Amino acid sequence: MRKRIVAGNWKMNKNFQDAEDLMFEIVDEITENGIGETEVIICPPSVYLEMSSDIAVENGFMIGAQNFSQWDSGAYTGEVSASMLHSMGISHAIIGHSERRTYFGETDKIIASKVDLALKYGITPIYCCGEVLAERKAEKHFDVIRTQLSEALFHLGKEAVSQVIIAYEPVWAIGTGVTASSAQAQEMHAFIRSILADKFGDDVSQEISILYGGSCNAQNAEELFANTDVDGGLIGGASLKAVDFVTIVNSFK
Ligand code: PEP
Repeated sequence: MRKRIVAGNWKMNKNFQDAEDLMFEIVDEITENGIGETEVIICPPSVYLEMSSDIAVENGFMIGAQNFSQWDSGAYTGEVSASMLHSMGISHAIIGHSERRTYFGETDKIIASKVDLALKYGITPIYCCGEVLAERKAEKHFDVIRTQLSEALFHLGKEAVSQVIIAYEPVWAIGTGVTASSAQAQEMHAFIRSILADKFGDDVSQEISILYGGSCNAQNAEELFANTDVDGGLIGGASLKAVDFVTIVNSFK
């Protein structure tokens, strides 16, 4: 059964005190407005995971990491492993975000190994895919997404892939204020689901939540989430304001 999910990606923002304040503001908003049936996951910078998860467990939402190492353990100075996240009770992790692909050279191979490590340690991957503007203009966006999905997920079995959350994030919409239209989002989400159905079967494709990400905000979330194949959102900028974030969480009809 597909879940409704809204995840917030704080990226590299907020000093400690501001991060803790934002966490408590979100708690206040949730207490006042509720979150209904929606699963809420907040992904703060890794140094704030412990502080955040203590607050989250008491208030009915979950915490995810923005990143972790492609290696399991060992001499990799500065890295944080999936196993470490698991040992701290972190339930989710973003994998394959376009900023990691672009600025940190993460390849499909690295991303696939992170998917495997997450699943090995019981962490739910929030797997991001998305095309750049030139690819959409050249009408290659469906091919790009098909390749990204197959490279990162097609080696998995049915049970493993059912654990994955997919976030479709057109790169041209991330942090730009330009959102995919409702029709563009639905078209791509339906395409993703059809690829999953071809590879893993209809039943599996109907279990996987597909989130939209890219300048989703408190004004446009309701229209985007009303689409049949849009199961929620991965929210960047708008997750840094508690009122906006919880408004988005409550934007399902
Ligand atoms: C993101 O970085 O995952 C994202 C969706 O960012 P924004 O909402 O700011 O476009």
